[in-house]
Amino acid sequence: MTAQIIDGKAFAAEVRGKVATHVARLRDEHGLTPGLAVVLVGEDPASQVYVRNKGKQTAEVGMNSIEHKLSAKTSQADLLALIDSLNADPGVHGILVQLPLPGHLDEDLVINAIAPEKDVDGFHILNVGRLGTGQKSMVPCTPLGCLMMLRAHHGSLSGLDAVVIGRSNIVGKPMAQLLLGDSCTVTIAHSRTKDLPQIVRRADIVIAAVGRTEMVPGDWIKPGATVIDVGINRIDAPEKGEGKTRLVGDCHFDSCAETAGAITPVPGGVGPMTIACLLANTLTACCRANSLPEPEGLTA
Ligand code: NAD
Repeated sequence: MTAQIIDGKAFAAEVRGKVATHVARLRDEHGLTPGLAVVLVGEDPASQVYVRNKGKQTAEVGMNSIEHKLSAKTSQADLLALIDSLNADPGVHGILVQLPLPGHLDEDLVINAIAPEKDVDGFHILNVGRLGTGQKSMVPCTPLGCLMMLRAHHGSLSGLDAVVIGRSNIVGKPMAQLLLGDSCTVTIAHSRTKDLPQIVRRADIVIAAVGRTEMVPGDWIKPGATVIDVGINRIDAPEKGEGKTRLVGDCHFDSCAETAGAITPVPGGVGPMTIACLLANTLTACCRANSLPEPEGLTA
């Protein structure tokens, strides 16, 4: 069997299109423009690229993009004061603090200082608790993107056996909660899991979120299963020239694609969905802040 490729790039473009349409309607009918504030502390090159991409895509869907670039030496008090002012700003509907923060700053304290209704990353402890108890929350962007692709592919996920490999707070755990919310039977596997191949073999849905190059081979995959590869691993690619690199996932794509019914590629799978879901979350936050109906199909 050769798997259907789930095209995350195309899917993300579709999500951004829906967001843009809804943003235009908010502007025309209610005079509202959603605003996303992104706070970057320090000069980490990868973070700078992410922040630039987020700002560009935010503007492209018609939202206001507000960027705060702070020195790596910014004090905790100054960062918290900025977050306070963004919390109080009615033109800001979403606040994202780019992680990781420099070592002298307390990430938990900073994230929990964001007003939960503006926490478009879904990392605030209240949002984590609300997601865990099935209440309306802001949902972390990467798992939300995975859920959207799964729903589009399967329709209902009810009763399906799902295995999430990885138990991080930003991907594995919220992913498992979302799948549970859609009535899957969920197993969370991790670095101490015994007999991982057998556990993965029984899954209708496999989510790999580990960060280990091609660790899931095709013979772990049940025929016809759906494989969502969250991993992003950079490896040497001498075939492309000296010093060149390329990205691969946590799943061995070619062999998994032989057995799976559907699979997301890396790159071009989950990755593009993450920023698209950030925009969707900002739109949702703006609608909720103004007691307007939420956009359909863009929330969990
Ligand atoms: P993390 O390092 O916080 O967590 C990794 C998890 O993998 C841990 O829970 C650990 O228990 C588990 N693990 C480690 N070794 C294992 C093994 N041998 N068998 C089974 N489980 C094992 O990572 P994270 O932040 O959740 O990210 C995971 C991957 O997803 C990374 O490659 C990251 O770059 C990628 N990622 C991609 C996106 C995206 O937008 N596509 C977003 C976030 C993370």
